[in-house]
Amino acid sequence: MLFFIILISAAKDASKDYTFLRERMVEEQIIARGISDSLVIDAMLTVKRHFFVPANLMQFVYNDNPLPIGHGQTISQPYIVAIMTELLEVKKTHRVLEVGTGSGYQAAILSLLADSVFTIEIIPELAHSAKERLKVLGYENVIVKAGDGYKGWKEHAPFDGIIVTCAPEEIPPLLLEQLSIRGRMVIPVGSYYQELILITKDSSEISEKSIIPVRFVPMIKKQ
Ligand code: SAH
Repeated sequence: MLFFIILISAAKDASKDYTFLRERMVEEQIIARGISDSLVIDAMLTVKRHFFVPANLMQFVYNDNPLPIGHGQTISQPYIVAIMTELLEVKKTHRVLEVGTGSGYQAAILSLLADSVFTIEIIPELAHSAKERLKVLGYENVIVKAGDGYKGWKEHAPFDGIIVTCAPEEIPPLLLEQLSIRGRMVIPVGSYYQELILITKDSSEISEKSIIPVRFVPMIKKQ
């Protein structure tokens, strides 16, 4: 009997602020799959992912999959957000560029680790709602712009980290140019079959490493 009372009150708590579901997500989807950077784990525990999706999907947001956010776009699966963030090796002094703001969730995670996050979204309605959401939630070091991220954001370059959350068929040359020396870029590349690629740059060369197969929405090409 006592067991059921505890169970019911735990369920009630979870429905209030989803802390229980978020902790379970981190245990089962993030740590169990090998993410070990404590700063990334803390950020995934801290950011309230349920505020980044439409209200009718809140209850599903800690599940092990992406979810629709409108305009044919999706918020990435939690594990994908975690692995991309870990690969970037963000430091408190870093300026990070994100291409594909979407809901603003990935930007919120990065904002806890970086000095500042510049994020570009091509669908103006999504850019606008992400900007509002991030402001209301207090993520003050995220700067959102509506525009084509294929070209990067020259005014704020170079970036210590670049993360791309939509898939181009090839690595956009201007993004490579805007990556600082010793910078890291994480980007899904391909059309139907995509690979998550980690790019590192040093003074003389650019190296690419294939990480895992992934499935992202395509990068939209501006005409
Ligand atoms: N990082 C997001 C996931 C976004 S899905 C999140 O945490 O919710 C990918 C996003 O990339 C979509 O919102 C899509 O509109 C955007 N996108 C596609 N092509 C783009 C481009 N050329 N420039 C900027 N954003 C683009």
